Amino acid sequence: MRIAVVGAGVTGLATALELAASGHQITVFDRRQTVAEEASYGGTGLNAHGLPWPSGRGSSVQAWGVSPGAHPLTRLFSRHPLQPPEQLAQLARMQRDLMALGADSMVSRFSATSVDPDSSKDLLVLWKDDKAHERARPTLDALADAGLPLAGLEPAQIHKLEPGLNPDTPLARAARVPEVTVATPRQVCMNWRQQALATGVRFAMGHTVRTLQPGTPVRVGWQTVDQRQGEEIFDAAVLCGGGAGLALPRSLGLKSGISLMRGRTVVAALRDPLLAPRAAILDAERQVLIVQHGQRLRVAGGFGPARAQEGPSPANAWHPLFQTLDDWFPGVADVRARQGTVQTWEGVVAVSRDGRPMIGATSMPGIWMNMGHGTQGWALAPGSARLLEELLSGKTPSLDPKLCAVER
Ligand SMILES: Cc1cc2nc3c(=O)[nH]c(=O)nc-3n(C[C@H](O)[C@H](O)[C@H](O)COP(=O)(O)OP(=O)(O)OC[C@H]3O[C@@H](n4cnc5c(N)ncnc54)[C@H](O)[C@@H]3O)c2cc1C
Repeated sequence: MRIAVVGAGVTGLATALELAASGHQITVFDRRQTVAEEASYGGTGLNAHGLPWPSGRGSSVQAWGVSPGAHPLTRLFSRHPLQPPEQLAQLARMQRDLMALGADSMVSRFSATSVDPDSSKDLLVLWKDDKAHERARPTLDALADAGLPLAGLEPAQIHKLEPGLNPDTPLARAARVPEVTVATPRQVCMNWRQQALATGVRFAMGHTVRTLQPGTPVRVGWQTVDQRQGEEIFDAAVLCGGGAGLALPRSLGLKSGISLMRGRTVVAALRDPLLAPRAAILDAERQVLIVQHGQRLRVAGGFGPARAQEGPSPANAWHPLFQTLDDWFPGVADVRARQGTVQTWEGVVAVSRDGRPMIGATSMPGIWMNMGHGTQGWALAPGSARLLEELLSGKTPSLDPKLCAVER
């Protein structure tokens, strides 16, 4: 089949590779000039299922012990019911299965060389406050019941594992998630692009897809930066536009139930590698993640509601990230040093109501979707691409497709 893939972030590139490998003729459209210029540019690249990060509308951050009102997302989602622990456990199981499906895929093999061998192998979720940990207990129990290999740790054990951890910062409890990996998604996207080109995938960069006409064939109308316009026909189109790509399904009247979240990162050079975090560290109450990437630290979080056409955030939006680093690992990175050694970045992700991505056919003939991966798009990209390919090629899917169905 001739297939248009809209979006050249982690999701679109993985999808293009999987579809091309099974014999389809692929054109990737992206409005940007190079791949991974939006959410896939600056994410943390952590690969861990059940990651206690905002996922879905049901105030999932509260499930980790965050008190209502203490985080912007608890306000955003306050009208929606809390996700019960069982629902988070179901989400974690789905993520585990999707990651397992992607783990042995061709797409993952191409990205294996980009996984930082020196990076964290565990994730430690830290609670400063016993009460917050107690509030998170039902979630932790449900995740453990769902098979997530979580281990509870006492402060003394945590300090032994993390000699650089600030002894003056209160620490109540931690949960340890083993077997996580860290990569640089943008670098992976560059590799995937090379592989895709070698497989015969055509890239139409600098092309914004403006119109989609469902049917047989599907008509894809595009416009370039210099205002050239054109239309091409395909047997199918797969929407992988992430947070920037919601206009297309909406223009077709597809009510995706997806909302937007903005997240931020700070990248700084390590000053003292000996004091650097050995595990990936998640501050449960602030929902901020600290990960070592080679000689640099990446601090990510600050998730909050976003709108489609919004300008850049003011500089103080990154304060919770600097504050979290200062609390746990003061002085480990050069965050206040000379200009240029610290980079800040923000990106918008698309998140579904229940945190599960939307993968499969839409109600419009010829239009498919692989969107709504929220804070887990890097980890889920290979598995999501594999599932999409199985469904689009008419194969028996390896996972129950209802879990990620577009209409649910
Ligand atoms: C701060 C932060 C930290 C994160 N950390 C992690 C992490 O540790 N682990 C993890 O798994 N995930 C993480 N994520 C999430 C992850 O980055 C995203 O889920 C993932 O990058 C989404 O990829 P995508 O390809 O779906 O979307 P994007 O990367 O946004 O790509 C979509 C592409 O579609 C293009 N596009 C949209 N509309 C059109 C159109 N009409 N025509 C042409 N092109 C179009 C855009 O230009 C863009 O290039 C993080 C996100 C943030 C913000």
